[in-house]
Amino acid sequence: GDLAHQMGIKAGEVAMKLLESGMMATVNTMLDYETAVLVADEFGYTVENVAFDISNFYDTSEDAPELLKSRAPVVTVMGHVDHGKTSLLDAIRNANVIGGEAGGITQHIGAYKVRTGDGSEMTFLDTPGHEAFTQLRQRGAKATDIVVLVIAADDGVMPQTVEAINHSRDAGVPIIVAINKVDKDTANPGRIKQALTEYSLIPEEWGGTTLFAEVSAKQGIGVAELLEMIALQAEIEELKANPDRDAQGVIIEAELDVGRGPVATMLVQRGTLRQGDIVVSGQYYGRVRTMYDDQGKTTKEAGPSTPVEITGLGGIPEAGEPFFSVPDEKDAKRITDNVSAQRRKEAMAQRARATTGSLEDISKMIEEGEVKELNVILKGDVQGSVEAVRDAFLKLGNKEVRVNVIRFGVGGITENDVQLAASAESGCVIVGFNVRPDSRAAAVAEANHVKILTHSIIYDAINQINKILESLLSPII
Ligand code: GDP
Repeated sequence: GDLAHQMGIKAGEVAMKLLESGMMATVNTMLDYETAVLVADEFGYTVENVAFDISNFYDTSEDAPELLKSRAPVVTVMGHVDHGKTSLLDAIRNANVIGGEAGGITQHIGAYKVRTGDGSEMTFLDTPGHEAFTQLRQRGAKATDIVVLVIAADDGVMPQTVEAINHSRDAGVPIIVAINKVDKDTANPGRIKQALTEYSLIPEEWGGTTLFAEVSAKQGIGVAELLEMIALQAEIEELKANPDRDAQGVIIEAELDVGRGPVATMLVQRGTLRQGDIVVSGQYYGRVRTMYDDQGKTTKEAGPSTPVEITGLGGIPEAGEPFFSVPDEKDAKRITDNVSAQRRKEAMAQRARATTGSLEDISKMIEEGEVKELNVILKGDVQGSVEAVRDAFLKLGNKEVRVNVIRFGVGGITENDVQLAASAESGCVIVGFNVRPDSRAAAVAEANHVKILTHSIIYDAINQINKILESLLSPII
């Protein structure tokens, strides 16, 4: 209709032309750009695409090989809880405090750089665990070159160990195994190596290619050898980036500091970030006002694989969000305005989709897991109603099926709720009572196929959950 109007032609004629080429259209049909070009051409008009295109500003194409210089590897430490990730990150940091700065007063900025005796550099993301890794990955960021998989020598391959292996494989990131706590009497590194063969992590002495380090994070044993292995692995990977261009990278973490405003830790991945540069990340932009390195010292510039903490952004971007610098502030504004508008639109569409989860989908999901317990995360607008709904849910079911409320509380449905639902071993639905998911939560739910049901009448909420339970008893085919 609009297109016809702009060309001064009856909508019916445009519809006819479209029909001739096999497309049924009414005045309300949305045409994509390519179709609009073709049909307008039939009437002697040209269509110009004025849609915003971020790739005009955010150049993700590869640099010419001759511009590339080696860069430090970026390392993430993963592993099962209590196997010693945090201790190992501390041990590595302490083993490398430069120039008499011992005492652990270095400021925590979410990542740190290590220089080994032989001059190799490596950057560690200082948030152990899988959440950070997956969060960065979810937004498409590849922020890790090497995963150090920590396994306690007195324990074994545990669920999160397997998860870490899977995450690393999915991301195509090589694994170095650090068998930790070898100081313990009960330590049995051989058993760990044996167990890992099942996951195709085979040490060189057994004919494999996986690097293994035996360490004690607590006593600092083997840490230097582990760093050597990381340097070796990095050499194999031939990591390179072009330092001589506008900076690009990824947000490691960001928060609001009462005194300083938004503070973001960024990992520069290529180019060089300088004080005064204009950076864009998601919906926010700003001029880099202050820039600190991982030692808490003011720094003027940061090249590839360097983490820095900056202030000056107009808001708090999400971890995992890419950032890039642009020369012109007007461009920065234009980009962020467009990103905001686009995200609002997507969020609205996703919210509409996420809240119309079909019962069949949910019961199928649970049946696939062969679990007859429906995990529920319950959020509501007031404590009283949340408790009432929860109590009602818990009364549902029978010997075979029941509701398991794994989290409940007052407030909107957040990304954190969705993450929990997504990581629940069997199916999990989120029920919002008089509350809805925020845009981020809706997006993550969509990506992870997490069902969100929203209700404003207690009876309806109970009824729907009851129906899901019933469907578990008599499977829908
Ligand atoms: P995380 O949950 O993987 O981050 O593990 P932590 O670093 O918090 O360590 C869990 C527990 O194991 C703590 O009590 C540490 O003191 C202990 N631990 C860590 N590394 C070692 C080690 O090399 N030897 C011994 N004996 N204990 C360790």
